[in-house]
Amino acid sequence: MKSIYDLDIEELEEYFLSNDDKKFHADQLFSWLYQKKTNNLSDMTNIKKETRDKLQNEFTFNNLEIVKVEKDIDVSKYLFKLNDREHIEAVLMRHDYGNSICISSQVGCNMGCKFCESGRRKKVRNLTTSEMVLQVLGVEENLQEKITHVVIMGIGEPFDNYDNVIRFVKIINSPKGLQIGSRHITISTCGIIPKIEEFMNFPYQVNLAISLHAPNNNLRNKLMPINKVYSIDNLIKILKKYIEKTNRRLTFEYILLDGINDTKECALELASLIKGMNAYVNLIPYNNTDNLGFNRSKTIQIMRFYDILKKNKINVTIRREFGTKISAACGQLRSKEESI
Ligand code: SAH
Repeated sequence: MKSIYDLDIEELEEYFLSNDDKKFHADQLFSWLYQKKTNNLSDMTNIKKETRDKLQNEFTFNNLEIVKVEKDIDVSKYLFKLNDREHIEAVLMRHDYGNSICISSQVGCNMGCKFCESGRRKKVRNLTTSEMVLQVLGVEENLQEKITHVVIMGIGEPFDNYDNVIRFVKIINSPKGLQIGSRHITISTCGIIPKIEEFMNFPYQVNLAISLHAPNNNLRNKLMPINKVYSIDNLIKILKKYIEKTNRRLTFEYILLDGINDTKECALELASLIKGMNAYVNLIPYNNTDNLGFNRSKTIQIMRFYDILKKNKINVTIRREFGTKISAACGQLRSKEESI
């Protein structure tokens, strides 16, 4: 049975119309679910009993079970249990500008990036739209505060689960749903070109982040197998088109791995690769993992890399670190649960 949280507002309208019922029930239902935040049908007294009974029979209204919350000063990691007993994680980061949540889009991941702990487990399945929506609602409820920013950067490759991710974005962005502004939503991908092309035509100002991590094919092939399918030249070509067409914010994520992609030559090559693009680079100090054999670049090397990009007029920031103590940082999700 589908969850009621799987449907965006247009789909709900279609559902009501196809049941010879009133289209405006979709607005009412959305308001109960996402603004008054109740999943209890008996509260929804402005919808007639007969309609509610039908909904109850045709959809599930359950939340996701939170099995564990680990808290650090400004970060918390939530472990959720899905109906088929799989687990996923979401991370809440408290910034001065609001509460940001990093959600997972798949159970496991097939991209096989060599440095990423989350990808050590092959993809088991895509998350449904509701499983993504309910990560946001679950954390909001636990926190008793509004989530203002959403990044799809947890476990999984969002563009390998494109349709569900897009529906998720529509629901959380909807003025009748969670009202999270599209500029406050970021999707991070390792570079699946056909989906980037499709995403260009999605008419929302959602931010796109590209996990680049290397400035040339030779190195990127070694770190990210996806590069053998969608090479860096083709990726940059399509991203230039993307920027031209959408004018949306584009970020390149670049993890600094000691002695591997953090040299002066790499910095210069990266600068010339993306020169002139309306994009910025987010340098990510690598979060060490136990099993993968990579190390974080030394601070001096990180600063040197940053300076070279700056000098070459590339917009660059160094990612603020969150959650390393509780293994909630990028690339560390799920690894502890995995070994149980
Ligand atoms: N599959 C998507 C989203 C998930 S990964 C993508 O590839 O973008 C989110 C980000 O964390 C990616 O940029 C990923 O490369 C990075 N990451 C993975 N392992 C990491 C680690 N150990 N330390 C820091 N960042 C890491």
